[in-house]
Amino acid sequence: MYIIILGAPGAGKGTQAENIARQMKLEHIASGDLFRQTVERGNELGGRLKECMKKGMLIPDEITIKMILKRLTFDNNNNGALLDGFPRNLKQAKALDKALKEKDKVIDKALFIRVSEEELTRRLISRRVCRQCQMPDQASTEIMGEQEKCKHCGGDLYRRADDNLKTIKQRLRVYFSETLPVIEYYKRQGKLVEVNGEGSIEIITTKILNSLQKREFVEK
Ligand code: AMP
Repeated sequence: MYIIILGAPGAGKGTQAENIARQMKLEHIASGDLFRQTVERGNELGGRLKECMKKGMLIPDEITIKMILKRLTFDNNNNGALLDGFPRNLKQAKALDKALKEKDKVIDKALFIRVSEEELTRRLISRRVCRQCQMPDQASTEIMGEQEKCKHCGGDLYRRADDNLKTIKQRLRVYFSETLPVIEYYKRQGKLVEVNGEGSIEIITTKILNSLQKREFVEK
């Protein structure tokens, strides 16, 4: 099974993808995490990626498509893969379809997590991410100033360089112009599953699992 998780920055794609991938035994492939790992290596490619990410721009398609398709291993130990943050424009979506077709596979579902623009900005401004396990968290006002720890693994939390108001606005602009057409693309194919992403994380995970299973049941 090949599932895509779509939504604006801050919609909760990473958190939900982690939960869904674990429960459905899918390989979780997150484009943003792959790019941040490359930046950490500090080589020339990492430098180029860092510049794009800092400005809230998309990484050029040639780099993105090559990197993600290389990571898509079609490993038989998994039930398939869950792609988080990719595709983000139509060119990427079509390249993915082509690569899957060559392996006799298709995208089964595209899960869209809907969250209002005000809520997205609020979440991104207060978001912290774990250096160790990459899980996102919200900054706690009570212990502001102290080194906050991840509730999943105890690792140090940090603020992403692109989680500042100027870059957030740019990332949202890119999302509306480049990624909304991808949502339409999967809707036209009858693959879109839409879930309201506001509320408790656990309830949203349950709603997503139910929606994915319900659609599967209807299709049989
Ligand atoms: P994310 O962690 O998904 O919020 O992604 C962080 C940043 O990585 C984005 O703002 C882009 O600069 C870059 N990025 C992630 N996924 C893609 C993609 N599919 N295409 C181009 N750039 C991407």
